[in-house]
Amino acid sequence: MPSGSGLVFRRRNEGPAAYAADEARSRGRRRPERESAYRGLWQRDRDRLVHSTAFRRLEYKTQVFVAAAEGDHYRNRLTHTLEVAQIARTAARALGLNEDLEEALALGHDLGHGPFGHAGEEALTEAVATARGVPAERLADKEVRRGIFDHNVQGLRLVDELERTHPDFRGLNLTYETREGFAKNHVRAGRPGRPRAELGFSPDESPSLEVQLVGRADEIAYDSHDADDGLASGVLDEDALRSVTLWREVEAGVLKEHPRLRDDARLRRRAAVRRLIGLLVDDLLVETTRRLREQRVETFTDVRTFPGELVGFSAELTAKKKALERFLRHNFYSHPKVDKLRRKWRRRLKKLFFVYLEDPRLLPDDYHARATAGTGDGNTPERVVCDYLAGMTDRYAEQCLRRLCGRE
Ligand code: MG
Repeated sequence: MPSGSGLVFRRRNEGPAAYAADEARSRGRRRPERESAYRGLWQRDRDRLVHSTAFRRLEYKTQVFVAAAEGDHYRNRLTHTLEVAQIARTAARALGLNEDLEEALALGHDLGHGPFGHAGEEALTEAVATARGVPAERLADKEVRRGIFDHNVQGLRLVDELERTHPDFRGLNLTYETREGFAKNHVRAGRPGRPRAELGFSPDESPSLEVQLVGRADEIAYDSHDADDGLASGVLDEDALRSVTLWREVEAGVLKEHPRLRDDARLRRRAAVRRLIGLLVDDLLVETTRRLREQRVETFTDVRTFPGELVGFSAELTAKKKALERFLRHNFYSHPKVDKLRRKWRRRLKKLFFVYLEDPRLLPDDYHARATAGTGDGNTPERVVCDYLAGMTDRYAEQCLRRLCGRE
């Protein structure tokens, strides 16, 4: 808890606040089911996510994949997801939000990502666009790209349609409130309207605080662990990272408490990452609490009707955090080493896409049937091939490439 902030956060046994999502008022599942006698709706959503195939595959999907190519102690999407869940649950408890829903949202938040991080997302977007005859110059528009492939929308397709576990229905049949997490980028609070409605969510409402929080927890996790992995892998230079105010400040804080870490780069880095996470979470809690009070948000209906984001960082920290993100973008995500792999995988994944599109018999039976069943349900062949590729892990995509295209 930040000292001197004057704010007192909820503790463990205080229970949820009136502005938290309430299971008793859930809008329910897409298909009604008999519910468990001892597990709540959102507990059950969380459990379904953990038992899904897509969740297990997260282990072999990377975010910034140069790290994964180089060692086993860097983050992958599964460990990232677990870090997001830890941060989100901690903050949810402190704010008095619904922890079961928060955990379900966090564990599902990255399920729709394809293999090879952003290279995969770029490849799938461009391949589907080519198959549909979308002119390349239109892809400069972010919204056009998002309309073709977006990992959040893909996550929703996954839990609604692609996962097969139940004999009576497709997908995981999650509740409205958990599914709403997959629309988080499309439904930023204060940006109501069409995109939300297109995904099947009520267009005139803001997302729950639980949904708003998972996006922020995601940022806290990747800002801190990418700095960590970037330094650990040697892709980032510690002196260069010190040009970022936020990093310089956390490092100074660490050295003030532990001067001997001047001579221990590894422990200094780890202590700085811990401190960075703590600082971001503290600020998020203080600022969110301030907004809730200032805007007199007391009930869940207040949250739904408030036209703006209630969960967020202070203006001062937002500026510092953005500077760190800019640094990571320029020095880590577009480092020549990362960039080289990214271009290679973008090219190869696109190649694999067209191999399947030209001969859908190469797809597994289920996908083959959907690709050739006609397009009445939106399952165009290029969409089905995209679904198949998006579900692949990095190494499975590599195997398929080797099998179907030979070595490069
Ligand atoms: Mg994430």
